[in-house]
Amino acid sequence: MPELPEIELLKREIGPRIQNKTILKFKIRNHKLRWPILASLPKIITDKNVINCSRRGKYLLFHFEHGVQIIHLGMSGSLQFITNEPPGKHDHIEWTFNDSTILRMNDPRRFGAILWHDIKNDGTLYDNKIFKNLGLEPFSRKLTEQYLYNKLSNKKKSIKQILLDGNIVVGIGNIYSSESLFKSKINPLISASKLSISDCAKLILCIRETLCNSIKSGGSTIRNYVSTSGQSGNYIKNHASVYGRNELPCNVCGFKIIKIKQSGRSTYYCPNCQNVDKKIT
Ligand SMILES: [Zn+2]
Repeated sequence: MPELPEIELLKREIGPRIQNKTILKFKIRNHKLRWPILASLPKIITDKNVINCSRRGKYLLFHFEHGVQIIHLGMSGSLQFITNEPPGKHDHIEWTFNDSTILRMNDPRRFGAILWHDIKNDGTLYDNKIFKNLGLEPFSRKLTEQYLYNKLSNKKKSIKQILLDGNIVVGIGNIYSSESLFKSKINPLISASKLSISDCAKLILCIRETLCNSIKSGGSTIRNYVSTSGQSGNYIKNHASVYGRNELPCNVCGFKIIKIKQSGRSTYYCPNCQNVDKKIT
């Protein structure tokens, strides 16, 4: 599943190539993604100028004067600039720009989404129901240890689950929450309300460090994520300390990494470095 670092990388790659370009053609080969794509969308954005490209959580946003195209890659989506390759079975969406640049979306499992936010009728982007409940961006200046501590103080859920929910801090995802909790020596099963203010400070630091490392190494290799240039990321192979390493020795203490299930998702942690008793007392 493409995670925040992958979408950040896509934004950095795609943004400069489509900024101030006009859409010549927007082709929908299959309307049935996670939600049906608005049939009138080609008419809405054809001959319109893309002002810029941004990211909010795991959503990629193409900004127009009259609205915003919201793109989510779901479980298996990818975006790639192409020249004149014929479309394959899972190439569902295509943007053609006035300089002949063509951007294509491939999504075998079709959990991705292409939505339209009309500025005149739907208000600001922050009013959109998708963005209303999203937490702060991990690199936001507003995300301080005091902020996190206050938000977690009445949360009974495990800290891992809270990070995955994305209502307090957005876009951390399964891989990076396991890694960030390992780095900060916090047990993933611990109730979020048990975190001290110094735990919160450490966690914020480790989340940022983990995401930065991943962005630098081109994202993760999980599933089908491919950057627009066709390069796969190598975060898991080169940087993961716990994710995907069950039964392997911890790089810090040599204990075996454990894999557990939390709300149906795999969590990996070191039972020694992230000893729950140390955190509770
Ligand atoms: Zn360890």
